[in-house]
Amino acid sequence: MVVMKFGGTSVADQSAIERLIAIVRAQRQAEAQQEGGDARGRILVVSALSKVTDRLLGIAANAGAGDIEGARNNLRELRQRHTTVSSVIGDAVPREKVIEFLDREFDELERVVQALGVLREVSPRWLDAIAASGEILSSRIVAAALSSHGLRAEWVDARRAVVTDAEHTAAAPQFPETTSSLMAHVDPPLATGRIAVLGGFVGATREGVTTTLGRGGSDYSAAIIGACLGASEIQIWTDVDGMLTADPRLVPNPHVVPHLSFAEASELAYFGAKVLHPATIQPAVARNIPVRILNSHRPHARGTLITGERPPSGRPLTAIASKTEVSIVSITSTRMLMAHGFLRRLFEVFERWKTAVDVITTSEVTVSVTVDDRRRLPAIVEALSEFAEVDAEHDMAIVCVVGEGLQNDPHLIGQVLQSVGEVEIRLVSQAASRRNVTFVIREADLAHALGRLHQQFFAPEPAPAGFA
Ligand code: ADP
Ligand code: ASP
Ligand code: MG
Repeated sequence: MVVMKFGGTSVADQSAIERLIAIVRAQRQAEAQQEGGDARGRILVVSALSKVTDRLLGIAANAGAGDIEGARNNLRELRQRHTTVSSVIGDAVPREKVIEFLDREFDELERVVQALGVLREVSPRWLDAIAASGEILSSRIVAAALSSHGLRAEWVDARRAVVTDAEHTAAAPQFPETTSSLMAHVDPPLATGRIAVLGGFVGATREGVTTTLGRGGSDYSAAIIGACLGASEIQIWTDVDGMLTADPRLVPNPHVVPHLSFAEASELAYFGAKVLHPATIQPAVARNIPVRILNSHRPHARGTLITGERPPSGRPLTAIASKTEVSIVSITSTRMLMAHGFLRRLFEVFERWKTAVDVITTSEVTVSVTVDDRRRLPAIVEALSEFAEVDAEHDMAIVCVVGEGLQNDPHLIGQVLQSVGEVEIRLVSQAASRRNVTFVIREADLAHALGRLHQQFFAPEPAPAGFA
């Protein structure tokens, strides 16, 4: 059984959904041929139509600011877009049913934003209810579109299937409960050879309150569902050819990495390779399920395969990831640093304010950490200031370089750091695994540093002499 996840650009409009249908059909046919009979069921996890989550969060912000008119106008446009996209459902009766469903959802959203607009306050719980509707709507359209194109599919409401805690906007899955509810709601369509279609990103608490898994969370949904049901493969269909050697928005012409280990993929995703949500790999690791990143615009491209181990690639470095909008917090205490209990006290502050730290370095008297969630930073700085001097710097970027060469060649780390040229490097950290090196620079230097680093380590090999 295979879980196929299609991201926002892969369901953006009618032609994207037609491409999705062609991809699913081709896989079903190949599978039926191999098995010499009917294809087994498969699971589709879909994102909201591209940019819809941003729009919904914008509508919630309109409501929070009391701009009910603005919220209504934006909702009207979204309703129109979804209705237009529904024309991909070939048969009139199911199409009408879906349009009725859309109308009910949008009527409900209008009532919600009206009420929140009067209160001028949107709690995380309501934010989730609004944001979740993007995936609920897209998955309903895709399920009907598949069926009307002869691929029998059934829509499964992700709010019934994925059980999470109540940490709104960043909920964590509850695996045992999710497994039972998937068995109750997803197994029946699969058992009769149908395709189960669910919205990604969305879940609900045990009490049935809608939650979301965090931005980009549809990849995570696919992995959770795949792990709970013991999938043989998780496919992430997106708009690039796979995991690239660097962010294509920052570096010209990066190459596809054909094969990654789970550990490498986790590090790249965690440090900013947006093509994969950082939590996606965890459930796949737990069940040793291969993950493939594939391009829905070029379905025959090989993509990237991610597995527990991978064959050696022959290149010293595998890929570079980067993350912007990072802050460095430096905590200095001449009295306390060597005293035992100091680090515990320091990290308790971050724990109390539920803020994760990414890179950590220590010198004799200073501990420096990076955080990418600035919301609680003022409170953190205040609490740390009770026992140390604290300095916070913003607009920093983390660069994470991953490669097996870092384990074997002691000179490589120096070459990596030198390759960025004149750029000031603020913190450097290398994990004990020595699979990666991470450093922090100013955001303004990022494009320049990445360009040089990529040029030095990933430039295409020169064509052999005489090769025309
Ligand atoms: P989807 O909507 O399919 O989930 P995302 O926009 O979340 O797609 O992720 C795909 C995008 O990730 C690509 O279009 C690319 O711009 C960006 N990206 C950043 N770093 C990388 C990388 N190392 N490899 C591939 N894509 C990357
Ligand atoms: N639609 C959600 C987002 O934009 C989840 C996803 O696309 O993965 O964050
Ligand atoms: Mg994504």
